Amino acid sequence: MFNDYIMKLYNSGIKLTSSREAVLSVFCENFNKHLSAEEVYELAKLKMPSIGVATVYRSINIFVISQLVAKIQFMDKVTRYELLDKNNMHYHLYCEDCGGIIEEPISRIKVLETEISKEVGFQLTAANSCLIGKCQKCLLKKKKR
Ligand SMILES: [Zn+2]
Ligand SMILES: [Zn+2]
Repeated sequence: MFNDYIMKLYNSGIKLTSSREAVLSVFCENFNKHLSAEEVYELAKLKMPSIGVATVYRSINIFVISQLVAKIQFMDKVTRYELLDKNNMHYHLYCEDCGGIIEEPISRIKVLETEISKEVGFQLTAANSCLIGKCQKCLLKKKKR
């Protein structure tokens, strides 16, 4: 998997420095997680103790621009990042009560997206975006009360 992303980076004409390689491997190893920039930095430091925080943030930005990594904003106001995998594009259902995240394959929402774009002429461009609501667990808790 790591090599695919190295190729992608290479194809985007971005030079692969050792610090970028460290940051990229953090994303690949945590492909199922939603990491904040600070968390990426902490994990990158384990691989490369000399890495600077500014370098890490810059690398993340480069990866976002070259679409290797998706930027997601949940309700907690922390910008999070995750590896962008074309075979695993998903929406995030974010529970505003417990902060839990459910990942929903994009194919199901794609239908709705097409309808919206036809009717309103609005095309969604953000990958892996976020829908806000309440999860089943939290809804059940409320009912019991
Ligand atoms: Zn919840
Ligand atoms: Zn996700």
